[in-house]
Amino acid sequence: MPNLITASGPGDLFTLRNIGNLVPACGSADRSVGAAIEYAVEVLGIRLITVCGHSGCGAMKALASPSDPADLGPASALSDWLGYAASSRERWLAGDPDSDSVERLCHVNIREQLDNLLTYPTVRTKVAAGQLRLAGLYFDIDGAEVFFARRPDRRQLPLSINRPIETSMTALR
Ligand SMILES: [Zn+2]
Repeated sequence: MPNLITASGPGDLFTLRNIGNLVPACGSADRSVGAAIEYAVEVLGIRLITVCGHSGCGAMKALASPSDPADLGPASALSDWLGYAASSRERWLAGDPDSDSVERLCHVNIREQLDNLLTYPTVRTKVAAGQLRLAGLYFDIDGAEVFFARRPDRRQLPLSINRPIETSMTALR
């Protein structure tokens, strides 16, 4: 419930929800997420895009399972969709082998989607011009805490999710 965890009201957020909080890279077969991004950025003129993941994510659990994450059955819409998270899984597997938790995959996946946002020319252009910011949110359901993650700058990729925020959009502005 994005409005609840960010203490925002009706109309404050333009929200797109999907399985695994995924942003297929520009040029992917799925165009629906890109269409929403372009509409929000170009028409609504939003100034901040947040990718919000959460603890205990079923999509990330499926992705983290030892079997092929896409092996959910022939021509499954779900397996096709989770295929867009394959790069998150690769990034997760290439990371700290001592920390193979699904929660780390949730974090890695947020970072991957922030990078995918930058594959959209309109996003890249506005970020470079300082007219748009990208940030990650991680909602820890058990602790009822929201963690804020922001890329330190436009080029550096390290992204830490370790700072709880007040559940207020003012913290993001
Ligand atoms: Zn989820």
